[in-house]
Amino acid sequence: MQATLEALTQDHDAARASLLGTKLTDSLNSYQLQAYNHNEGPLLVLAGAGSGKTTVLTRRIARLLAEGIPAEKIFVATFTKKAADEMTSRLTAMLGESGPAMVEKLWIGTFHSHCLRILKTEWTLLHGKAGYFQIADEHWQMRVARAILGDREWLAKGLPAPPFGMNISYDPKSALSAVSAVKNRGYSVENAEAAFRDHSPGTADAGINTLVRFWRNYEMAKDVKFDLLTKKPSRRLDFDDLLIETLKLLQTNDSVRRKYREMFTMLSIDETQDTSAVQWEIARLMTSEAGNIFIVGDIGQAIYSFRGADPNSTVAQFTAAYPQGDILRLPTNYRSSATIVRVANELIERAGIDERYRLQMLPSQEEAEIPTATMHVDADAEADWLAQELVKHQSRGKDLHDCAILFRTNAYSRAFEESLIKHGVPYRLEGAMGFYGRKEIRDLAAFLHLSVERDSPAAAEAAKRILNVPSKKFGKPTHYLGGAFCAQVELEAQRKGISFYKALLTGQFKTAHGLAILDFREMIKAVAEVGDTAEARLRKARELGYDDYLLREEGHVEEEGNSRLDNLEELCVSSQSFPTAKDYLNFILAQQQTAGQEPAGDYVEMMTIHRAKGLEWDVVFVVGFAQGMIPHHRSLRFFDEDKKQLIPDSIEEERRLAYVALTRAKKVVYLSWPQQHLARALTRSPFLREMPSLGLIEDDADGLDTGIEGSSTERPDQKSKKR
Ligand code: ATP
Ligand code: MG
Repeated sequence: MQATLEALTQDHDAARASLLGTKLTDSLNSYQLQAYNHNEGPLLVLAGAGSGKTTVLTRRIARLLAEGIPAEKIFVATFTKKAADEMTSRLTAMLGESGPAMVEKLWIGTFHSHCLRILKTEWTLLHGKAGYFQIADEHWQMRVARAILGDREWLAKGLPAPPFGMNISYDPKSALSAVSAVKNRGYSVENAEAAFRDHSPGTADAGINTLVRFWRNYEMAKDVKFDLLTKKPSRRLDFDDLLIETLKLLQTNDSVRRKYREMFTMLSIDETQDTSAVQWEIARLMTSEAGNIFIVGDIGQAIYSFRGADPNSTVAQFTAAYPQGDILRLPTNYRSSATIVRVANELIERAGIDERYRLQMLPSQEEAEIPTATMHVDADAEADWLAQELVKHQSRGKDLHDCAILFRTNAYSRAFEESLIKHGVPYRLEGAMGFYGRKEIRDLAAFLHLSVERDSPAAAEAAKRILNVPSKKFGKPTHYLGGAFCAQVELEAQRKGISFYKALLTGQFKTAHGLAILDFREMIKAVAEVGDTAEARLRKARELGYDDYLLREEGHVEEEGNSRLDNLEELCVSSQSFPTAKDYLNFILAQQQTAGQEPAGDYVEMMTIHRAKGLEWDVVFVVGFAQGMIPHHRSLRFFDEDKKQLIPDSIEEERRLAYVALTRAKKVVYLSWPQQHLARALTRSPFLREMPSLGLIEDDADGLDTGIEGSSTERPDQKSKKR
C-alpha cells in the first residue's frame, strides 16, 4: 500500500515537472536551454546585457524545485534585496500552487543576508548565547569612527582610550570606506599597512599611517567590552565582518564547512562580475564536491569595483577553482531593439575586454528608433525638455512606468525633480532621498531661512535644526543644545509671547549654553549680512563652518553617485536664478511641500545608473551625458604618476556604467547633456564619439556632426534658460 502511494506521488511529481517543463522552457534558445538544463558540475554563464542570464538562472531553479530538489538545499545570491524579491515573486508565479511554500524555504538573498543567517546559527551553536553579536550599522560606525579620530577631550569623554581620540582631522566616512575596501579584498588588520599600500598606491606615508592606526582602533572598538552606545558588553560586526567572519568560520571549522557543503545541492550567483573576492571564496567553500555552482554575469557590466569586486578576476577565479568547469555564452540580446544593441556593442567593444569573455550581442528584436543625443543649455533646460517628452508620452496614452531617468550622481536629480513637479509628471526617486529632503540641503535651507526671517513657527524649526552646527568663528561647540534645552526655550517663548529665536537670544542660560547660542547668533548674523542673494548667504554658511561640520560629523564618500558636497554645490549654483534670498527660500519651501510625496498611480522612476543594474524599461533617458559626468570627473583623477597616464580601470568602469545605462532600454534611448553645469562649461561625453551608430548628435560647437545634415534635434526653447 505504502509503495503504491509513493509511486503515485512520484507520478504526480513527474507530471507536475513535465507540465512546468513546457512552460519554463518556452521560447528559450538552444544556448539558454543548455544553461537551463545544466545539472551537475560548475557552470559560468558569461553573456551580454539582456541575454537572459537572470531569466535562465531563475527558470533553472524553478525546474530544480519542480523536479523535487528540496528548496532548502538551493542557495541563490543576488546583488540586491530588490533583485531577490523580484526573483522570489517570479519563482512563486512559475511554480503554481505549491510555489509559495517552496520559495519560502529557498536560500535566496544577498551574500550579506546569507552570511548573517549562517553566523547567527553557527555562533549560537558554537558559543551558546554568549556567541551572539550585534550589527555595527552605519550609525554605530560613524559614531565610533568620529570618536576614534576625534579629540579625546570632547568627543570621547568618559570612553576608554585607546581606541578613542586619535585627535586628528580626518573624514570619518572616508576612513571607514578605505577600511571597508581593503577588507572586501580579503586583507586583515594584521596586514593593514600592506593593504593600504596595495590598494591606494601613491598615498603618502602619513596618510597610510593614519589609516593603519584607525583600522586597528576600529577593530578594537568593535571588540570592546563595553559598547560605546549601549554601554553593555557586546561583540559588534559590521557589514563587511558578516562576510569575513563567515569566511573564517568556513575556512577554520571543518564540520561547519562540511555541513553547508552537504546542505547545498546547488549554489547560484547572479551578477557574478560584481562578486567580491571574499564573497566568491564563501561560495566556493560551500560548494559541494561535485562542484554544483551555477553563476551568471557580464564582465562588461562590472560597476562595483570600489566595493572590492575585480572584473578581471571573475573568470580567473572560476577557472582556478574549477579547471573542469564549463563556460557558456548566451549570444542573443532579447531586451533591446537591434538599433540599441548595435550602439551598445560599439561602446563596449572599446572596453578592451578579452574576447574569450565577452561576445558581441546579437539582436533578436527589430530595428527601432535610433538613440538620439541632445545638448541643452544647462540641467534645467535638459530637465524641461525631458518633462515635456514625458508629457507627450502620456498624451499618447502610454504609461510613465515604461520610462526611466538615469543619472550618474544623485546630485543631478535636482533639476529633474523640479521640472517634473512643474509639469505635473509624477515620479519616484529610487535609492535616495529627494534633493530638497536631503539632510545637508535641509540644513543649508535652515540657514537661509534664518537669514531671511526668524520669528515664524517655520523659523523656529529651522533654528532647532541647525542650533548645533558650530561655526568657524568660535570653534568647537561648547555645549550641545539638545531636545530638553529646546523644550525649555519653547516654554519660555510661549510664556513671554515671543518667537523661539527671540527667546533663545534673550533667555537666561548657563554659561556653556550661552556661549553656544552666541556662536549660533553670530553665524546667522554673518550669513544675513553678506548680501541679499541666496548664493552669497548659502556660501557664507558653508564657509563659516558648515562644510567642515558636515565632513567631520557625517563624512564624505562619493561611491555609487552620492556626494553631499555635490549636493551643496548644486544648491548654491541653482540659487543663482533667483533674484533674492527670500525668493529662493520660498521656492525651496514649496519644493519641500510637493517633493517626497509618494506618487499614488502611474509614475516615472529616476535613479542612478548603479541602481538600474539588472532592470529594464521601454524608454530610458540617460541624462547628464557630458564629459566630467559620464565619465565622472573623479574617475579621471586616478592618475598613475609613474606612467604619467590615467589608470585605465577607473575610466573603464565609467564606460561599463554607460553600457549598463544604454542596455536598460527595450525600445528607445535618449542621451542628453548640459552645456554647462555648476558654473563649468561642459562638452559631451567622449563615449558618444565611440558609438558611430548613434543618430543625431548635437555638436558642442556647430550643431550636428553626424546623422542628417542640416537638421537639428534642438528646439528653440531649449536654448533659453527658464524659470
Ligand atoms: P542583465 O545583463 O541586464 O542583467 P540578463 O542577461 O539578466 O540582463 P534578463 O533580464 O534575464 O537578461 O532578460 C532580458 C529580457 O529578455 C527580459 O525581458 C526577458 O524576459 C527577455 N528574454 C530572455 N530570454 C528570452 C527568450 N528566449 N525569448 C524572449 N525573451 C527573452
Ligand atoms: Mg540580469
